Amino acid sequence: MSPSAEQWAAAVAAVRSAGAGDEVLLICHVNPDGDALGSMLGFALGLRRLGFTRIQATFPGQFSIPDPYAGLPGLDLLVPETDAYGDPGMVMVFDVASESRLGGLAGRLAAAPRSVVLDHHASNTGFGQVRLVDPLAAATSVVAEQLLSRLDVPLDAEIAECFYVALATDTGSFKFDMTTVAVHELAARLIATGIRPGEISRRIFDSKPFGAMKLTGEVLGRAVLDPAAAGGLGMVWTYATLSDLERYSQPPYVLDTLIDPVRSVAEADVSVLVKQVGTREWSVSLRSKGAVDVSGVAISQGGGGHRLAAGFTGFGEPDDVVATVRRLLDDFLN
Ligand code: 5GP
Ligand code: MN
Repeated sequence: MSPSAEQWAAAVAAVRSAGAGDEVLLICHVNPDGDALGSMLGFALGLRRLGFTRIQATFPGQFSIPDPYAGLPGLDLLVPETDAYGDPGMVMVFDVASESRLGGLAGRLAAAPRSVVLDHHASNTGFGQVRLVDPLAAATSVVAEQLLSRLDVPLDAEIAECFYVALATDTGSFKFDMTTVAVHELAARLIATGIRPGEISRRIFDSKPFGAMKLTGEVLGRAVLDPAAAGGLGMVWTYATLSDLERYSQPPYVLDTLIDPVRSVAEADVSVLVKQVGTREWSVSLRSKGAVDVSGVAISQGGGGHRLAAGFTGFGEPDDVVATVRRLLDDFLN
């Protein structure tokens, strides 16, 4: 269900009732991607246009910005979790499907006198005072742009670049099923501000260090195709360890898009990338071409996501994690 007229009105009222001098803390999910950062920073710039003077944007965990997003407008508003306002007058949350994805910042949301949650995950667990959760939106930036429009903030090139990066990221460069007429209409309005889609796409999709290319080759080289998995629909999987990253001197974010070549395998409906994040701890990316709802698997393991793209944290060795996914797929298909 998309947000109701009452929910939109409540969100507008929450922002309008905060004073321009109030501290506003914007939070997106741990290990932020293009939609998390883009929707949050675009909205933060919109708040600045509204006259707010005390704005911080942050996310939990390690404070590192993936290189593709290092040039985003509004980054001057970004602070590490440890520097974030302790007692903000308003908290706004972007692209976060469950409170666990807020890490140590969940308490700020709970304590805030005003809070607004903007999201597009069908698996959103329902938290925060005002909830703008639209599972039909291709990206959280779609929701953020609608709220700015209802607050009468016009799009400018800086806001538009943030929202465009978010939209392009979450639609897989305008390729996924969620790429509707409305998505292209929004993209057109964003481009009309003068931003350069070719240059932005090159930066966020088509630029990587040589070492990342070599690492990709090694991780793809060890992929396994399991044609009998997922009720015979097929599953392809591979894994990347922290020592792989170290060997090629690469930061973890280079693994964020590695699921894309894996999921292009024609013989498998389901693809899995198991990325090491700690000792016997793995961040698992799941993709489906349509026959299987992988969010069910992710949610059953404490994660979340969308029908065709989901994730969770797994434990043990990569073989164990994949065996669990294989078993759950069979359970869900039976
Ligand atoms: P990715 O595989 O690109 O990291 O994530 C795919 C989708 O699953 C995204 O929508 C992301 O928000 C969601 N997702 C990935 N990992 C987790 C997780 O651990 N918990 C939750 N709630 N969602 C996740
Ligand atoms: Mn998103």
